[in-house]
Amino acid sequence: MAEQHPHIDTLCLTAGWTPKNGEARQLPIYQSTTFKYESTEQMARLFDLAESGYFYSRLANPTCDAVAAKITKLEGGAAGLLTSSGQAANFFAVFNICNAGDHFIATNGIYGGTFNLFAVTLKKMGIDCTFVSLDATDEEIQAAFHPNTKLVFSETVTNPGCRVCDIERWAGFAHANGVPLVVDNTFPTPVNCRPIEWGADIVTHSTTKYLDGQGRCVGGCVIDSGKFDWSAHADKFPGLTQPDESYHGLVYTEAFGAAAYLVKIVAQLQRDFGCCQSPQNAFLLDNGIETLHLRMERHVHNARRIVDFLKNNPQVAWVNYAGDKDSQDYTLAQKYLPNGSCGVLCFGLKDKSRETAVRFLDALRLISIATHVADAKSCVLHPASHTHRQLSDEQLEAAGIPVDLIRLSIGIENADDLIADLEQAFQQL
Ligand code: PLP
Repeated sequence: MAEQHPHIDTLCLTAGWTPKNGEARQLPIYQSTTFKYESTEQMARLFDLAESGYFYSRLANPTCDAVAAKITKLEGGAAGLLTSSGQAANFFAVFNICNAGDHFIATNGIYGGTFNLFAVTLKKMGIDCTFVSLDATDEEIQAAFHPNTKLVFSETVTNPGCRVCDIERWAGFAHANGVPLVVDNTFPTPVNCRPIEWGADIVTHSTTKYLDGQGRCVGGCVIDSGKFDWSAHADKFPGLTQPDESYHGLVYTEAFGAAAYLVKIVAQLQRDFGCCQSPQNAFLLDNGIETLHLRMERHVHNARRIVDFLKNNPQVAWVNYAGDKDSQDYTLAQKYLPNGSCGVLCFGLKDKSRETAVRFLDALRLISIATHVADAKSCVLHPASHTHRQLSDEQLEAAGIPVDLIRLSIGIENADDLIADLEQAFQQL
């Protein structure tokens, strides 16, 4: 009989923590900074990476590891790590293989915080990023690669523009140029898209969003597919394929195989930067993931209702929702997001002024103004007045974010109540 693989709904509940006979059925919180050993020899082997085990929670903690293992399983990866935030996850994903003097490519329209990390902060560290439009031609994409290019980065569904990345296409370009594709899969979550199945090599998340789903814990994760062959491009990735003097000359690809990239993040970046998640937050995150499959279904259902309402409203100029049949990326959404994308959508008012957008937001009652997306409670944001306010109109345009764009993150409340709230706000304009 063929082996039965559990569905993702089941994995949301069962993956990660597998209690042995008599152990706690629920994931325990290992609220401990340190772990005890009986001999110097045992501890020394851990410090040499010659054995796996716990010694200090900045590097690894059993609660955090169980949750990382759950997300790894959901994404179909080989190894995973929780980080203190989504920002830390994307920073680690890039900095693990880019040094000063290196270059990478990111698609534009990505989350403002990630854009700033790549365009400003990494630049100060000597790492250059070229932003390329998701609509770029093959020639334009290829022209962005240089001999020192080390990776390509994209978001499955962009925040805030709700554009869909053609993952297979970008993976094709990355691989043809000997580098991995990193995909931030925060918006669809593995319930609605598993980028590794489409060729992504590394997946990141802001677990602060749908994975937690309760708006309670800032967090992130990096998941390694284990599929990228670093040794086949050894000259590009010396940090993985040449001896690490801080671990007695250990070579990550030789010692850890499919987990090389992930072990290097833990051993070097988590050690030196300390962007670890607390076990308490990891426990709450796990709690959230247990209902992820149910929540995503409701987010999609509600978002579709709101999209229909907005499209029929005479005060609305345009609506974009990844998966809507009138959206620019409908064909891509059908391919990558057949069960729906998420609860995030964006739209613009016919009156494009920043003032009117702000008046509309201020008139909402149930839907709150929050610098957040993707949790159980609906919220709204005007990027030009909030998250992206440091960008000029021209920079906004270049980043693929129109000045009039209003982002709605639709939660799991009753859709009729959400529509009533929008209706009364439109009446006040
Ligand atoms: N990636 C995406 C797609 C995001 O939307 C965000 C935050 O909004 C981040 C990364 C950063 O995550 P965090 O706020 O957890 O640092």
